[in-house]
Amino acid sequence: MNSNQLSQRLKAVADFVKDGETVADIGSDHAYLPCYLVKAQKIHKAIAGEVVEGPYQSAVKQVKQDELTEQIDVRKGNGLSVLSPGEVTTVTIAGMGGPLISEILENGKDRLEGVKKLILQPNISAVSIRHWLLENGWQIKDEKILEEDRKIYEVILAERSTVRQPLSQQELLLGPILLKEKTSAFITKWEHELIQLRNIQKQMEMAEQSSSLTEKKKQLEQKIVLIEEAIK
Ligand code: SAM
Repeated sequence: MNSNQLSQRLKAVADFVKDGETVADIGSDHAYLPCYLVKAQKIHKAIAGEVVEGPYQSAVKQVKQDELTEQIDVRKGNGLSVLSPGEVTTVTIAGMGGPLISEILENGKDRLEGVKKLILQPNISAVSIRHWLLENGWQIKDEKILEEDRKIYEVILAERSTVRQPLSQQELLLGPILLKEKTSAFITKWEHELIQLRNIQKQMEMAEQSSSLTEKKKQLEQKIVLIEEAIK
């Protein structure tokens, strides 16, 4: 992977960016995504945010190497704190766990003023992002699921909304659009997940009973039913 040839995972994120948007890529590491988008002439301006020194330096180096210092501003800082309100139309956050992405959004809510679109690619637990979006005035407009190097990735595109999106527990867990499409990557992901959850269920059945365990068992059973119904 490089800034000319993205991984399929990052390409799916890039595909959700439309011409002329201004993009902040948070947790940008090598800044491959913003460099690709500018070189493809999809966008003219981007911000690459990175909190860790090593990846920040990699981003600075890549942007210089691609001669894009006029178009891409690499900023060091935590999450959305690198942004001023109104600076960008689109925020991308990719390659992290869902809970971390949700935390970055929650801690930087005030910096999302003027942002119209969020493109989020969690490596695990997309459900936590869907909950955050629902609670914070965002609507899921599109989703993508793909398999690359034996791993399955989800990408969520959200836009602002004045009405609360009516998502069921099943849609929150599996993704409203992914659930409708039921692609082979979707089925593979949830078949694997079911095997793991059933193993946990067996272990719980063998463990000593306590009220907290009973509650966990109930939640697990509900989750298993939601998945079974979706892929049967
Ligand atoms: N976004 C790139 C991708 O999808 O290929 C890089 C993913 S990499 C696994 C995650 C990056 O996010 C790391 O470089 C890490 O330092 C950065 N990161 C983690 N938490 C962050 C935060 N709160 N603010 C900014 N960057 C963060």
